[in-house]
Amino acid sequence: MKPERPPGAPRNVHFLRAARAAASPSYPPAGEVPAMNERNLAFLYSPEAEALSYPPDCPFKTQRAGCTRLRLKSLGLLGDEKHFESAPRRATVAELKQFHTPHYLEEIQRAAEGDLTVEGLRMGFGEPDTPVFRNMFECGAWACGAGLTAADLLLQGRADIAFNLLGGFHHAFPDRAAGFCYLNDVALACMKLAAAGKRVLYLDVDAHHGDGVQAAFYGRKDVMTISLHESGKTLFPWGGFEDELGEGAGLGYNVNVPLPAETYDEAFLEAFDAVAVPLAENFKPDALVLELGMDILAGDPLTHLRMTNNVVVEIVERVMKLKCPILVAGGGGYHVENTVRGWALAWRTFCGENDDCDFALGMGGVMLASTEWAGGLRDRVLPVSAAQRASVEPELRKTIKTVINNAFRLHGLGAPSFERATEPSGFAEPAIKQQQRK
Ligand SMILES: [Zn+2]
Repeated sequence: MKPERPPGAPRNVHFLRAARAAASPSYPPAGEVPAMNERNLAFLYSPEAEALSYPPDCPFKTQRAGCTRLRLKSLGLLGDEKHFESAPRRATVAELKQFHTPHYLEEIQRAAEGDLTVEGLRMGFGEPDTPVFRNMFECGAWACGAGLTAADLLLQGRADIAFNLLGGFHHAFPDRAAGFCYLNDVALACMKLAAAGKRVLYLDVDAHHGDGVQAAFYGRKDVMTISLHESGKTLFPWGGFEDELGEGAGLGYNVNVPLPAETYDEAFLEAFDAVAVPLAENFKPDALVLELGMDILAGDPLTHLRMTNNVVVEIVERVMKLKCPILVAGGGGYHVENTVRGWALAWRTFCGENDDCDFALGMGGVMLASTEWAGGLRDRVLPVSAAQRASVEPELRKTIKTVINNAFRLHGLGAPSFERATEPSGFAEPAIKQQQRK
């Protein structure tokens, strides 16, 4: 049986948004979301890059970008004047040297040719998550080229939103590979945008902490980094805690929100709204680089969060309100079908599209307590158990309070957000639960 919509909820609005509108009078109603129909969206894609796959037994699948492209084409959301494909170029070694050391670039090319040296081992090559394989340099060089091409499209005004799902390698350091990442496309894209005089916000909602990007801009205030991720207590790269705030001129411009295992949609959004939204609005970026890893979704084989892709819609709607050009980088996502649907849903939301079909499916799934796909792009809403709520809420609430205490004062941000984030009433209960009790 399909529950009724809450009174006053528009037909094309998901229950989650309706629930939050009811819970918080300040939450903008759907009508205030800027119309995106006039925006130009670019999808970076190259069959040559897609063919450069990781070893078959590696969970990282480069084919995700191509699968998303096909999904968007089948939905009629890609392939017209305003929603177009753009072919990336391969980054040159000179461009890669903007972030990586010359010695590292020599060693990775040597390893790709089968010559793994002791230096290469020290640089992280040959670990389970950083295998040595023929395409290890080429794959990263194309991802970085796609990121730089995407940045160019934004800087030239040819696109308002540019998707680089070949990239998102946020764990790569100047001289070290880690976590499937060899060459850091997102750091290079941020650097390019900053070099053009833009105030850049790097917002990372991948399940893993964006440690390589954090390190790149730790002492800078022209590139602000905000990362919400599963806590380093339970997940690689075992860092990204609340007290990592930047240094020198960059103090306060690096913000981490570690999330407890089992974090669910409403809890994530509470943290996002309490921390990321006010900081982003205060920073007033000229450009946003959004790492949109889909390993946050329930069912991902490598992580322990319990979000659904409904949260992706909420994230996209919030970042659109920043009214600046956006580069979307792929990042993680090890359940391929869920990842493809999540990214396709993000693209569709940036297009300003929504539909009632998915809305109905989301509601039906509550009864089945499963995110198993049954059509459409949206996940079914997952119920939250009392035990899950009890294990997530106190820890996350403490984290939010700490982050606000640490970071907000450095930006002259004060009481309203703090009070909202620490009021003792608990997270907003989803409307669907209220419906079930009626
Ligand atoms: Zn990840």
